[in-house]
Amino acid sequence: MGEINIGGTLIWYYYICKREVWLIGHGIEPDQENDYILLGKHIHEIFYQSRKKELGIDNVIKIDVLPGRMVIGEIKKSSKYLKSAKMQVAFYLYYMKREKGIDMQGLLLIPEERKKVKVLLTPEVEGEIEEAIRNIEKILESERPPTAVRIPYCKRCAYKDMCWV
Ligand code: SF4
Repeated sequence: MGEINIGGTLIWYYYICKREVWLIGHGIEPDQENDYILLGKHIHEIFYQSRKKELGIDNVIKIDVLPGRMVIGEIKKSSKYLKSAKMQVAFYLYYMKREKGIDMQGLLLIPEERKKVKVLLTPEVEGEIEEAIRNIEKILESERPPTAVRIPYCKRCAYKDMCWV
């Protein structure tokens, strides 16, 4: 596998909607006034005020480093999209291992549900991340976005006006 040029956000959306991966990857701006986007920003600001340091690495990943531990943290509003969230953290672990030679653990934080979920980079998860990266690259190379497929997430999606009229 060559250089990693995608970020954790695309991994998260890959497990939700391939069309959204294409839209984000092509720099198409979503509706910034979408209620879910605003709520996500708000929770992130409040919860992190005193607890974390955000660290950008290589312009590829932006991680939340929890004090005193070799842990990559990530905050989510709910555990509804747990698979996506876990794979996003797994991607960060993968990136740190492959590009920086640092083995870390992952921790997914869901403050509104008072939940913490550990994420480990097992060989199976590593293989799954590599497959996701390859597939995302293929999606982005395509001239057109994948056809819209209606899923429950569409109701809250900031791109819904572009997919459904
Ligand atoms: S509205 Fe639905 S189909 Fe369109 S990008 Fe969002 S999740 Fe995907």
